[in-house]
Amino acid sequence: MRCNSDDLAHYMQASYSHASMHIFITLSAVAVFIGTRHVFSKIRNEMANLTVIIIGAGPIGLTSALIAVQCKRVHRLVIFEEENRSRVENRSYQITIQPSLVSFLRGYGVDFDNLEGEWQDGCFYTRVGVYLEYIIHVLPLYRAETDIKFGTKFSRDCIDTIDVMSGRKLVLCCDGRTGLAGQILGLSDECAYHSTASFGALAAIERSSQTLVPKPEIRVHNIGFDLSAYVSSELEEKSKSTFSLKIFGNSRCRFLALAVKKSDTKIVKAMKTVLDKSMMRNIFLKCFNTYKRPEETSISDSFCLNNMKFSPRLFEIRLSQKTETAAYISDCDTFVITEGDASRSFNFNTGMDINLGLKSLSSLKPFIERITVAETEYNIMSSLIYKMEHSDRICKYFLKYGLKEYLFM
Ligand SMILES: Cc1cc2nc3c(=O)[nH]c(=O)nc-3n(C[C@H](O)[C@H](O)[C@H](O)COP(=O)(O)OP(=O)(O)OC[C@H]3O[C@@H](n4cnc5c(N)ncnc54)[C@H](O)[C@@H]3O)c2cc1C
Repeated sequence: MRCNSDDLAHYMQASYSHASMHIFITLSAVAVFIGTRHVFSKIRNEMANLTVIIIGAGPIGLTSALIAVQCKRVHRLVIFEEENRSRVENRSYQITIQPSLVSFLRGYGVDFDNLEGEWQDGCFYTRVGVYLEYIIHVLPLYRAETDIKFGTKFSRDCIDTIDVMSGRKLVLCCDGRTGLAGQILGLSDECAYHSTASFGALAAIERSSQTLVPKPEIRVHNIGFDLSAYVSSELEEKSKSTFSLKIFGNSRCRFLALAVKKSDTKIVKAMKTVLDKSMMRNIFLKCFNTYKRPEETSISDSFCLNNMKFSPRLFEIRLSQKTETAAYISDCDTFVITEGDASRSFNFNTGMDINLGLKSLSSLKPFIERITVAETEYNIMSSLIYKMEHSDRICKYFLKYGLKEYLFM
């Protein structure tokens, strides 16, 4: 067959438009596919919701609950608390909330004007039970379905209760320093112990007749002690270590926290090693009577003998940090994280320990938002990494500034 140049041009034009048509159809199909996928993923994201399960109704568990119910994706909240409601609400020790965390909690609707407590230098002092009672009262006012199971200890038997809940779940283990929930759910119980480069000792004075009204703390610095009555005069030296003292708590239970920067001066060595209990008792007795609030009555030696518990010697103040604080269990589409004392805590009472746990909750809302819509393995992993890195930063911050802020300044 012979082709002239017109035929060839015609043929080429026809195949060109045929190819263009093919490309057009293919591109349209891809565009429709991408568009549909986008719409579906948008609908799925918009419909995605989360059930939050909290183990432990202490200050960190209940604050987490308050944050969770304000995340629009959280449609259901279940709290397991082993103690009954009145025991939780009657917890008597005092908590001190730092100014930055007062603002953070105000952002979640905590109405400090309706809480019994005292202000000093922007810090809010209240009884822990007052704070817990307030949150228990406001939780049902939010949209999410809330179920607080008081008197219910979380144990291995409860895992089935969680497994049968439909959809994606987040379990927050807020069961305190000795809690086992994380371990039950598969997180490692290993801890890393960090030195704060300080030594400390604690005392608690209990009176049955006083009230539980919170009192702002007292801080005193550069205190020296004369231990010549207890240790040999060889231990006396010119460059003595000086201590910081903090008196806090309510008038029924007063705590004394004594701390000193790590050193091997003779006085520190003596207070770390001499096991004469009367030495530490007299130090705390003298500290209390010298620096107490003016309206408080002094305490006697015999009162101390019967009513004061104290560390028999100085010990190293350490921060313990759980090495695994977040995980994802794909079988039941469940995220597990630890918060509060269950995640990290000092072996010392600073009177401001609640702040350590509260600070970590600043990443809870973004974490909830991320995990609710995380579909791919990559998104799930990056959400977990986000939470773990934040938890790590909290520890690093506290190792660098925590004790300084809480005790030495
Ligand atoms: C005697 C004492 C005095 C303190 N004084 C102060 C102070 O003056 N200032 C301060 O800031 N901090 C103080 N603290 C520290 C403070 O308690 C903690 O920093 C803070 O309570 C940490 O809160 P959390 O919610 O992580 O843990 P926690 O308060 O320990 O709460 C854990 C909760 O989990 C519950 N729980 C445990 N296991 C289970 C389970 N298996 N199932 C269900 N529920 C469970 C417990 O009953 C508890 O309600 C004090 C602590 C103690 C013990």
